[in-house]
Amino acid sequence: MKKRKPRTRPETPRQAALRDRWRKSPEWRALARKGAYIALRKFAARPKCGAKTRVTGDPCRGIAMENGRCYRHGGRTPKGDAWHKPTFPLPADRFAAKAADLQRRAAKQEQRRQEMTCEELERHKRWHETHTPGPKTARASRRDERRRTEEARAMLSSPRREPEPSPEARELEALIDRLRAHLNELDAPESAKHGGLFD
Ligand SMILES: [Zn+2]
Repeated sequence: MKKRKPRTRPETPRQAALRDRWRKSPEWRALARKGAYIALRKFAARPKCGAKTRVTGDPCRGIAMENGRCYRHGGRTPKGDAWHKPTFPLPADRFAAKAADLQRRAAKQEQRRQEMTCEELERHKRWHETHTPGPKTARASRRDERRRTEEARAMLSSPRREPEPSPEARELEALIDRLRAHLNELDAPESAKHGGLFD
């Protein structure tokens, strides 16, 4: 769509004189000063970059971004939760170059996967399962879950061993056995005690 130029009438000398007079008036100056103070206060209140400057060695004091560093001090390099995310430079030609680069890389990786043997592919997949990019906390919880699963699997697969009985328990068992034998003797019919009916 073609942009239409707004039709502006040239300022008349009288209008220019009025504007100049307003801009030199104490009211306008007071307003401008107030605005400047507000802006400066806002600026001063924002968190500052603490990077060491090369020339003086002092902290940078530039306006910090979310990561605590200013635009110039590596602020554009993704860190923390975004460490795996590609960043794109702003100029159009560099943006396109980066996009093409990433595409080439993806194609190369795909090619490598195509050439892998089944076993290699399996190992590759397993590696990627344990090396999924993402926030630190999410990765830690996934790691924890994997560890617990491993432990549960190991516990289920190993044969259950009965604990060694204590000496007291052994004594008690022996006593129970003796008592049971005694009870059997008492319960046994007279015939069993003194020979069977036919002998
Ligand atoms: Zn800085």
